[in-house]
Amino acid sequence: MRVLVTGGAGYIGSVIVEELVGAGHTPVIYDSLVKGHTSALLPGVLVVRGDVRDTGRLVQVLREQQIEAVIHMAALIEVGLSVTNPDRFFENNVAGSMSVLRAMLDTGIKKLVFSSTAALYGDPVTLPITEEAPLQPNNPYGDSKLMVERILGWSAEPHGLTCTALRYFNAAGATERNGEMHEPETHLIPLVLQAAAEDRPVTIFGTDYPTPDGTTIRDYIHVADLAQAHLLALGRTEPGMRVYNVGNGNGYSVRQVVETARAVTGRALPVDEQPRRPGDQVATVASSERIRAELGWQPRFPDLHAIIESAWNWRQRHPHGYANMTGIDEG
Ligand code: UDP
Repeated sequence: MRVLVTGGAGYIGSVIVEELVGAGHTPVIYDSLVKGHTSALLPGVLVVRGDVRDTGRLVQVLREQQIEAVIHMAALIEVGLSVTNPDRFFENNVAGSMSVLRAMLDTGIKKLVFSSTAALYGDPVTLPITEEAPLQPNNPYGDSKLMVERILGWSAEPHGLTCTALRYFNAAGATERNGEMHEPETHLIPLVLQAAAEDRPVTIFGTDYPTPDGTTIRDYIHVADLAQAHLLALGRTEPGMRVYNVGNGNGYSVRQVVETARAVTGRALPVDEQPRRPGDQVATVASSERIRAELGWQPRFPDLHAIIESAWNWRQRHPHGYANMTGIDEG
């Protein structure tokens, strides 16, 4: 299948592109390259520089590249930034997704896989979280994704679209080629490994949460397992909208992540305890029963130690991130 991957030069997108190529699909990357890395990309994969809000450009690329399905990932993702700059999140994430939908409708493309998030559950009443749990995001990032899910929910049936929203829990880890390197970095595992590499303390945001050790709990999923979920979603054929959680079902606290990183890296990793970060959820752990049952998804790397080890190995191989890797030309 010829698949447009918006945000395909980012951390998760680049791994999806790797998996698509491995499975014999032809991905075309559409990325503003504001955050993405061209050097992360596979040689031979076309990269189009463009903003998702530019509907005309999208229509042109969908036509010229004879695209059959879209994986729409391009979005702003930092929870903290969304609290201070909500307008930017609604503009990029909601208006951007409307533009992708408009371009698909104008070109007759019927299949969409949308990157959604566990952030739309807010502070869940019960764990693990099923797809039926109340949707009450406690930050503009989560709300922007929920708005798009709602728009797709209303649009899929009348337009005969097959839409799949994948609600990501916490993507982590690396493949041989691609790992996590955001600018600015806000995510726990890369920051912990950066602290380990530089023999600095790691900051813990909030030690007074109502959890066994006072720190927040997350369900970390290996980025390659998350990418696999997209390939399975591309195989769906029934028109309509379907949402799936993608997580392992294991919750780890920030302190447990730090402890595991100590074991992986052999570094002391002292902690610096700071107040809570605005917008953070207390605990998110996925029930992934639905995606396992309906799409046959099976995580290959569910173990936190192995996930952190893959990230650490990638970091050791690429101490300067993507800066020194061989780049490719943009199309
Ligand atoms: N966190 C932390 N120290 C850091 C980075 C993150 O304690 O240096 C915490 C953060 O406040 C949150 C959890 O780790 O409670 C997971 O944060 P991350 O940004 O990785 O993921 P998300 O907020 O999307 O769940």
